[in-house]
Amino acid sequence: MKTTVDLEQTLLDICADMTACEDKGVVANYIPELAKVSPDRFGMSVCLADGQQFSAGDAATRFSVQSVSKVFTLAIALGRYGDGLWRRVGREPSTHDFNSVQELEVRRGIPPNPFVNAGAIVTTDMVLADSTPAETLGEILRFIRQAASDEDILIDPAVAASEKLSGHKNWALAHFLKSFQNLKHPCERTLGVYFHHCAIEMTCEQLARFGRFLAGFSKSPNLVSRENIRSINALMMTCGHYNGSGEFAYRVGIPAKSGVGGGILAILPGKASIAVWAPGLNKQGNSLLGTKALEALSRSLDWSVFDSGGQ
Ligand code: GLU
Repeated sequence: MKTTVDLEQTLLDICADMTACEDKGVVANYIPELAKVSPDRFGMSVCLADGQQFSAGDAATRFSVQSVSKVFTLAIALGRYGDGLWRRVGREPSTHDFNSVQELEVRRGIPPNPFVNAGAIVTTDMVLADSTPAETLGEILRFIRQAASDEDILIDPAVAASEKLSGHKNWALAHFLKSFQNLKHPCERTLGVYFHHCAIEMTCEQLARFGRFLAGFSKSPNLVSRENIRSINALMMTCGHYNGSGEFAYRVGIPAKSGVGGGILAILPGKASIAVWAPGLNKQGNSLLGTKALEALSRSLDWSVFDSGGQ
């Protein structure tokens, strides 16, 4: 069993190794604002059950959480609707790209899970319910701030505007959902909220603190029950890295959700909430070095949920 002193050193070593890597992946460029971020950034932060937090590299720098925000909306939707969510979204991994229109047509408008874009758009539509977009975004921000114990978490309006202009696939998905009666609000309204929650900015330190309730060692905000936490972690394990989820489970073995901003939130129930940020992506749209760093951490501390701890 490694001590926390080891953890501090392990994070510094991983950070040095990642910084030295030549292949850093490709920064997302289909959202022009995200393309401005340097692929050389790297940060990591870990919260432990005893309340300690350890960080390395650019852990205090804000980045666009993008699809990590799908965890926020899923938690709110499950809290509010429970199993009602599954009438409109599946909970199976997908072998298609995260923004596949083809898959949605084949599935007659029912997205495979809440983490592919179509599934997250439906989840956002449910969270929006009868509120205004501003009220809904306020609710999402309050939820994150409470979980992270930090009021200083905001939306970057330039990133939201950039995606509104260039997110053609998401517009296509929303129109498909609408045509299958799986979108209650006008496309513009639901996507407006979706683009804005994807444009929330957080640091690794804030994101790791946010994840504490999912790891089971902080009070859960809102209505997120233990049962719902179990569901969220299961979905992160099976679907959190899109069509790269199997590979991620094999290599890292920790439930996690990635975003095209290069962030990953990883939850080791009972043990740790981990956030990593490295903007360069692999071909499935997941952080290349973020995955590598989590694999190194998991191996070094025996942190895979699949590790028996024996021998
Ligand atoms: N806002 C991004 C999109 O809809 C999120 C995708 C991601 O982070 O994986 O394309």
